[in-house]
Amino acid sequence: MKHQTVLELNGTDAPDWPMYIDGEWVDSVEGAWTEVVCPSRAGTVLARVPNGSAADVDRAVAAARAAQPAWAALHFTARQRALLQIADALEGEAESLAALTAQDTGNALRTQARPEAATLVSLFRYFAGVAGEFKGTVLPAGENQLQYTRLEPLGVVGAILPWNSPLMIAAMKIPAALAAGNALVVKPAEDAPLTILRLAELAAEHLPAGVLNVVTGRGSIVGEAIVQHPGIDKVSFTGSSSVGRHVATAASERLAHVSLELGGKSPSIVFPSAATPDRIDATAAGVLLAMRFTRQGQSCTAGSRLFVHEDVYEAFLDRLAAQVGALKVGDPLDEATDMGTIINAKQHQTVREYVEDGKSQPGVRVVLDGSTFSPEGLEGFYQGPTILAGVRNSWRVAREEIFGPVLVVIPWRDVDEVVAMANDSHYGLAAYVWSADLDEALATAHRIESGWVQVNQGGSQMVGQSYGGYKQSGTGREFSIEGAIASFTQTKQINVSIRR
Ligand code: NAD
Repeated sequence: MKHQTVLELNGTDAPDWPMYIDGEWVDSVEGAWTEVVCPSRAGTVLARVPNGSAADVDRAVAAARAAQPAWAALHFTARQRALLQIADALEGEAESLAALTAQDTGNALRTQARPEAATLVSLFRYFAGVAGEFKGTVLPAGENQLQYTRLEPLGVVGAILPWNSPLMIAAMKIPAALAAGNALVVKPAEDAPLTILRLAELAAEHLPAGVLNVVTGRGSIVGEAIVQHPGIDKVSFTGSSSVGRHVATAASERLAHVSLELGGKSPSIVFPSAATPDRIDATAAGVLLAMRFTRQGQSCTAGSRLFVHEDVYEAFLDRLAAQVGALKVGDPLDEATDMGTIINAKQHQTVREYVEDGKSQPGVRVVLDGSTFSPEGLEGFYQGPTILAGVRNSWRVAREEIFGPVLVVIPWRDVDEVVAMANDSHYGLAAYVWSADLDEALATAHRIESGWVQVNQGGSQMVGQSYGGYKQSGTGREFSIEGAIASFTQTKQINVSIRR
C-alpha cells in the first residue's frame, strides 16, 4: 500500500489510510474508521484512518515485543545505517511531508511545515551519528574484577504524540528510541495522524517488521491502552499537562517508565538594553518568533508572557505591534502565508474565549485583536494574532496555556520583581531573555525556573540540545544524547571475578 503524498482538497474521494502494524498496512480489528479534517478548509475530509481499539494496541505490542530482541542484538552500526537510510528517504520526500503537515495541522508551509520536515531529517541523522554512544563504563575495580555496565534498551516504547508539530515531536522520540535498540508503538494525535503514517511508510523499507508500529485512534481508547498495556515498558508522552498527569499516574501504577513533555506559559523578558534604537527591531522580531505566532501560538515553548521594562515599554510595544500586525494570515499552502490556522473548531473557540476574557479585564489595552480577522474567501479555523497589554500576571490569560496566537504584555521595573513574576507559574518549559548586557542576561537566565532558556534569540530547539520541562511542564529530556540515554535505556551492572 502506498499513501498518496498530495491529497485532493476538493472534498471528494478522501482516501483510506490504513495503519502500520508488524510490517503490514491494516484496518482496525473492529473495522471502524475516522475522518481527518483539513483545518484550513473547514469541512474538507483529507483522508480516513482506522479508529483503533485496545485490540489493535495488543497486535502492535505483540509485534514490537517479537521484533525488539533481534533489533537490539544488532551491532550499533546496523541500526545507524538504517536510521541514515531513513533520513535519506525522508529528505527525498521532505517537500511532500511538509505539504502534508501543512494540510493536516494548518501550519504554514514556508514558516513552519518545511522547517519541521527538515528537523525530522536532522534528528534521524543526529541519532544515527550517536548510535555508538549508548555504551557503558568499566570501573577500575582491581585486577581480580571486571566490573562494567551495559546501557540496555528498555524494550517497547509507547510514543504518544500531540497535533501541533507531529513530525518534530515524532523526531524527538522515534530515532532516539530506535538507536538505543527499542521497538515502538506510536500513537499520533487524532487531528494530525497523516504525516506519521507517511513517516512509517518511508521508514518501513529500512526496518524489520514490528520494530516500528503506528496505531491510530482516540486518546481515551488507543492512548489509554498503550499506557495500561503490560507489554509497553516505557511511555513517552507529549501533550497537555492534564492528560500527562493522568498518563503519569496510570503508567506509574504499573511501575512502567514514563517521561512527559507537557505544556508551558513561558516568559520573555525584555531589558532596556535590548530595545535601543539599533537593537529594538531585532528584539521585536525575536520576541515574535519566540511567541510562535507563525505556528498560531500552538507551541508548548511559546514565549506567551512578555515582560517589558517600563523605560522602553511604549516604544517596544509599537515596534512589536507593527511587526506582528504585518504577518500574513492565510492558506497554509500559500508561500506568502506567515500564519496558518488553528487546528480545529474546539480549539478555535477556546482561543476566542481567552481573548474575550482578557479583553474584559479592567485596565487591559487591546493592541491587536485577532478575533476580528476575517480570511477573505477561506473557510477554516483562522485567527489573527492578538496582543493584550497592561496585563497582570495573576489574570487567567497570563496563567493558563492558551495554545493560540495570544501574547500578553506585562510591564516591569525591577529585576527581582520580573524574575519573581516569571517564576510565578506552575509551568517551567522555556524562557527568553533579551539584553545587550551578557552579565545581566546570564544572571537572569540562571534564576529562571525553566528547562530551556534562550538569550537574544527565539528560535526552535536545536538538534543535540537538552530539552524538557521544570515543574508541571514535564519530566525527562529529549533532543540530546544525554536525554536519549536517560529516556530509552536502563543500566545493567556486570561484576566478574577474574582468577589469576
Ligand atoms: P492532548 O494532551 O490532548 O493529547 C496528546 C496526545 O495524548 C494525543 O495523541 C491524544 O490522543 C492522547 N491522549 C488523550 N487522552 C489520553 C489518555 N487518556 N491516555 C493516553 N493518551 C491520551 O494534547 P494536544 O491537544 O494534542 O496537544 C497540545 C498540548 O501538548 C499542549 O498542552 C502543549 O503544550 C503540549 N505540547 C508539549 C510539547 C513539549 O515538548 N513539551 C510539545 C508539543 C505540545
